Amino acid sequence: MINLPTIQILIYIKETLAQYYAKVKGKNYDLLQILDIGLDFRTVCPICGGKNCARFIKYYTRGVIDENGTYYKDFPIARYLCEGRGGQSKVPHKTFSLLPYQLVPYAKHSVPFIIKMLELKHIGAIDVKASRLCG
Ligand SMILES: [Zn+2]
Repeated sequence: MINLPTIQILIYIKETLAQYYAKVKGKNYDLLQILDIGLDFRTVCPICGGKNCARFIKYYTRGVIDENGTYYKDFPIARYLCEGRGGQSKVPHKTFSLLPYQLVPYAKHSVPFIIKMLELKHIGAIDVKASRLCG
């Protein structure tokens, strides 16, 4: 079996990244019970389309730099497992995770932070190479 990266689904959250961290860090139950995201996997699994299929597994953590430049070394991201109840899966994945929209898949800088740095560079307030932000 090929070890593919988990599918990352961007979700809209009402919270800032700092508020998300404060609410979610240390919890070990489903993100959908903590935040009002407007998603419900009971009716449709995002991987196979099945009913009552996707279930919360756990949180994994990653490094995140939020819009204020605050670094979180253990920012929690919710991970789910598709149990294949919808039959033929459209993609060769079994798990997916829910990524707050401010985050960039597989990169630690948040989108608002990158934009802020680019704005500062544009007005000449700082001297950074944009490529360094995305590395
Ligand atoms: Zn499924």
